[in-house]
Amino acid sequence: MTKNGGVSRRHFLGGAVIAALGRGFGVERVFAQAPRAAAAPDNARDLLLVNGRIRTMDAASRVVSQALLRNGRFVAVGDNVAGQGRSARRIDLKGKTVIPGIIDAHNHIVLVGNRPGWHTPLEHVFTIPDAIAALKNRAGGVPRGEFITTIGPIAAMQFPERRLPSLMELDAVDRPVYIQAAQGGARTNSLGKTWLESKGVTVAADGAIAGPALNLALKTLRQELLTPETRKRGARDALQYYAALGITTHRDCGAFHAEAPEGGIASENVYTMHDPFLALHRDNPYEAMPARLRIDFLHQDSPTATPPLPTLGPRLRNSFPFFGDEWIRTGGIGEFTGGGLDGLRAIARAGWRGEDHTLNLANVTQLIKDRETVNAEIPIGNLRWIISHIPQFPAELADRAHAMGIGVLVGWGPTRAGTNVGPPYRMLMTHPIRKGYHSDGGDITVINPWLNFYTIVTGKNLAGQQILGDQTLTRQEMLWLATAANKWFLWEDDLGSIEVGNRGDLAVLDRDCFTVADEDLKGTRSVLTVVGGHIVHNDGVA
Ligand SMILES: [Zn+2]
Repeated sequence: MTKNGGVSRRHFLGGAVIAALGRGFGVERVFAQAPRAAAAPDNARDLLLVNGRIRTMDAASRVVSQALLRNGRFVAVGDNVAGQGRSARRIDLKGKTVIPGIIDAHNHIVLVGNRPGWHTPLEHVFTIPDAIAALKNRAGGVPRGEFITTIGPIAAMQFPERRLPSLMELDAVDRPVYIQAAQGGARTNSLGKTWLESKGVTVAADGAIAGPALNLALKTLRQELLTPETRKRGARDALQYYAALGITTHRDCGAFHAEAPEGGIASENVYTMHDPFLALHRDNPYEAMPARLRIDFLHQDSPTATPPLPTLGPRLRNSFPFFGDEWIRTGGIGEFTGGGLDGLRAIARAGWRGEDHTLNLANVTQLIKDRETVNAEIPIGNLRWIISHIPQFPAELADRAHAMGIGVLVGWGPTRAGTNVGPPYRMLMTHPIRKGYHSDGGDITVINPWLNFYTIVTGKNLAGQQILGDQTLTRQEMLWLATAANKWFLWEDDLGSIEVGNRGDLAVLDRDCFTVADEDLKGTRSVLTVVGGHIVHNDGVA
């Protein structure tokens, strides 16, 4: 017991100190067996950022020029703190805008990390030639004959033609290609068509795959291409891609459970789909994980199941909410609680967080009513329950949700069509209810936060149609929702703002997201992303 205590205490000391202890006290062998994370990697040394426009998103919305990071946290933030970091690695930002690492408080990054093939996100391109160029670039790193895929976070609406690239266009890529959007079917090229047809999948002459063939195509790709290694590669690629867009924390909200590979774009085995992310974390979180992952558990038990709550019951009895470390941590139940009122009661009784999404007014009205019923029996006021999406959400429902301590997540806009499709951002900003930003991307829409931000401030979807009416926000409000406001939804106060004591998560942007033209918001990228003081993405800035 004492010996173990000694080892774990050393675990928290710096690598050099441990090495010295090792030499002095002959514990080298013990130390060698400690987790690799015990040895802080080189780029964990102090970082000093100077000459930035650092949008701290603290309570006073301070904008400062300097920040010092030490041991993974901000230790000094201001205009005259450089003197405290003389031995730190100094990075001259040359006036660039810095924001806290973006928190996507509800998406499906775990699905994206488990896609078959060499999943290639295309959320940063807005013309078909640019998409083809990105795929060709990807092909350079993909063995001949292996599939390049983009499955889920892509929309025909991204392109002026309002369609996915055709077979002829995709034939410029010298690898089999398979692109599937949540709305708009799938496309493949000639190499992909030959392979898919050999597996019994019907492909039209223009490369389109639709109807039942779509399900068979994705099921077959999953069955034939997925291995633990490809999933791990996909998990790392996914986190890395979004780190380059400034996301440092993802809260994953699950999938529809499929015991074996099937064709639904939102389906996965919910008991094994986190394995590739856990494998990255085991390798060494500092080197292998470009972002933090928060995991919620989606359940869909039927309210009339016998025995009752067949999956939710065991989950609540056998696992732990908010358990893990700063890199991977569990959360609550969601984005479906399942089990009807008894499901909600079980979650409340267990003291867990519960989340459901809503797609329309009738649905959210029922969600509020059900929670009022349960709250009268088992108070949920301290459990930070969540309702997400809320396309329609009148102030009266916001009042009732707020009275129960429920918060709402908003976003999921850039690929939606219609008039006043919500959510009512402006109303929410003037309401005391807790609110935060989520993309809900990965299966039904895109994750790229800048596409969502574009919609939030302009009211336009990616096709340029006005969908929000008078409910748009300012850029300051938009960024607040995706950073400081999301602390509450993660239940972690030391993320989401650049303040002394907080974890060192930030993104240095390639443009000033407060002043660029509306249309230029969409192309915003991070040129330097730092998570816990570690540089995870660097476009030559540092
Ligand atoms: Zn979702």
